[in-house]
Amino acid sequence: MAEFSLTRTTHPTSPAVRQAALADPGFGRHYVDHMVVIDYVEGDGWQDPRILPMSDWSLHPAAAVLHYGQEIFEGLKAYRRDDDSIWLFRPDRNAARFVNSARRLGMAELPEDLFVEAVERIVALERDWVPAGENEQSLYIRPFMIASEALLGVREAKSYRFSVICTPVGPYYSEPVKLWITPNYTRAAIGGTGEAKCGGNYAASLVATEEAYANGCGQVLWTDGAEHKWVEECGTMNVMFVTADGELLTPSLGSILPGVTRDSILKLADAHGLKAVERPISVDEVLDGVESGQIAEVFACGTAAVVTPIVGFNSPQRGVAVVGDGQPGPKTEEIRRHLVDIQFGRAEDTFGWTR
Ligand code: PMP
Repeated sequence: MAEFSLTRTTHPTSPAVRQAALADPGFGRHYVDHMVVIDYVEGDGWQDPRILPMSDWSLHPAAAVLHYGQEIFEGLKAYRRDDDSIWLFRPDRNAARFVNSARRLGMAELPEDLFVEAVERIVALERDWVPAGENEQSLYIRPFMIASEALLGVREAKSYRFSVICTPVGPYYSEPVKLWITPNYTRAAIGGTGEAKCGGNYAASLVATEEAYANGCGQVLWTDGAEHKWVEECGTMNVMFVTADGELLTPSLGSILPGVTRDSILKLADAHGLKAVERPISVDEVLDGVESGQIAEVFACGTAAVVTPIVGFNSPQRGVAVVGDGQPGPKTEEIRRHLVDIQFGRAEDTFGWTR
């Protein structure tokens, strides 16, 4: 166990204000009273793990993150169960992915056990901020790291700051969405940063999301960087297809984010009579399959939305294609329920994912 120091806020949120915030949390509208901070300096390693009152930071204007975007992050949730106990879902996977992201961005690697301990400590301290589990509310946890060295030369920075902040999040009624198959933008390419969870990937995605809205869609379906031919992922979620022959199909890893939800759902497929298959899937295969009925259901998955039904596509080449009858499919609903029930302790956790 690392020695974490704790400096308590002198202005804790009153129970009445917290209750009001938890009654209508939104997503990222209210923050808990404390945050984790751990600094890294090359040569000295990770230093002084501490929990501080939530506050603004001061950064040198030349801090490398502000110029060259050396930043990575994670997203996971804490769930309050019916017996009032609080649980995390596979935080070790987020810790491992954080190390991979750090490597890709040339940043210091935070030991996985320190990542998990930081998450556990802030959640334990702020447990009153974990909403009651009704409507699938939870506490969203955002670990992240920035290059803090003042540095205008372009190279890997020598000092970093790791932090964890948390925000209660409300019922995410994953409204069914249509996906826009953009001909103009890509999110990632082989050799790029698609497998890393770095801020730059999201900065580059925003203009395409606006294009999706302008074309009557809720999210972008990302395709490969070379040909716009292969399906990758959608918005900030991985994408899955339920076929008429009982397969649960999803694009192979390589230039997409290896989602914790993606991995979990692939492992649950069996229990729903589906065979999990990871392979390249072309846009034509998807649109032909939707037209013929070979693709019966489509959904997106990720920590924030869990499972979001995809009910259609729009593309300049082929116009609008509706999946099935345009309603969320039965397997999508079943799988969503199963995953949420494991997270809230209402279904058996056969894989030992919760702690
Ligand atoms: N793809 C992208 C681009 C994402 O940002 C996310 C959210 N982290 C996911 C997929 C889903 O990952 P996870 O299931 O780990 O939340």
